[in-house]
Amino acid sequence: MTEASEHAFSTEVHPADAPGALGQAAELLAQGQLVALPTETVYGLAADARSPEAVARIFEAKGRPAGNPLIVHVDSVEMAKDCVAAWPSAAAQLAEAFWPGPLSLVLPKADSIPDIVTAGGATVAVRCPAHPVFSAVLAKCGFPLAAPSANRSNRVSPTRAEHVVDQLGGRIPLILDGGACDLGIESTVLDLTGDTPTLLRPGMISLGQLQAVLGPVATAKPPAAAEPLKSPGQLQRHYSPRAKLILVKGDFGAALGQADETTHVIARTAAPAAWPSERWHRLPDAAAGFARELYDTLHRCDQLGAVTILVQPLPDGDKWVALRDRLTRAAGA
Ligand code: AMP
Ligand code: MG
Repeated sequence: MTEASEHAFSTEVHPADAPGALGQAAELLAQGQLVALPTETVYGLAADARSPEAVARIFEAKGRPAGNPLIVHVDSVEMAKDCVAAWPSAAAQLAEAFWPGPLSLVLPKADSIPDIVTAGGATVAVRCPAHPVFSAVLAKCGFPLAAPSANRSNRVSPTRAEHVVDQLGGRIPLILDGGACDLGIESTVLDLTGDTPTLLRPGMISLGQLQAVLGPVATAKPPAAAEPLKSPGQLQRHYSPRAKLILVKGDFGAALGQADETTHVIARTAAPAAWPSERWHRLPDAAAGFARELYDTLHRCDQLGAVTILVQPLPDGDKWVALRDRLTRAAGA
């Protein structure tokens, strides 16, 4: 946040499979320092979840508001149970079905998790990531790691080590490079503390998949912009590129007609003949492929100086819900 913190470190970037890299990461984390690590969703900015001082460094490096809680990453159900005050049968069923994987479960927090992690709340989100680098670091540490996405607050999450360098270079001591993230968008967040399980953030594990395991699942309505947040992590504007992003709802052809030479396009179809290819970003037609490439494309649009990004209307269906959520919030609409 301060100018001084921006250049506090000369950030090292190591391939995750370089000799000693995992050990160096675990050592820094044990000393209360921050390390950016790949997960299967996006890159995370990890700190010892038991240490308020270590976790405070996350908020400072990201410029993250103190009211936005962090997800605690664990390498087993056993470690998850150390972070929570209750492990209901729904949690056990979901962990069995989806862990390790992109599902965060909100549960009553244990005393071992300091208030700063949960933004002062009585609940904590826990998740067991399915990335060999993150798992290996957790195994070496032996303690849970609080890890939000490794971007500056409100910006697009990083899906490659280079994105982390761009946003957090100089602010953290170490980034492990594990290549591009497989899934490409943040985890599904499910609240298990109420009477009915409630989806707080959609992700690539869909509502239908959760319902197949649990039965009824409610969907949290994001609060209106002027309303105070009832639950943290429901900000309307989030995940934004620098450019103004417009998720086109109606006639895509008409929207293209309004474009100028600072407009970039994200579409699942080929560019019309007259469009310059460097401003037309074609993504896969399937939701999984689209998610994998989306954030990298948003980062690239920013680098190329896009002023406006037009996104082609998305298909309907369960698989596209999370992508529509992220793009709607990136548009701040
Ligand atoms: P990030 O790790 O940057 O993807 O952000 C973590 C997100 O997890 C927050 O923005 C919230 O949406 C969600 N989250 C974490 N902990 C909680 C919690 N205790 N209650 C509700 N949502 C949470
Ligand atoms: Mg984030």
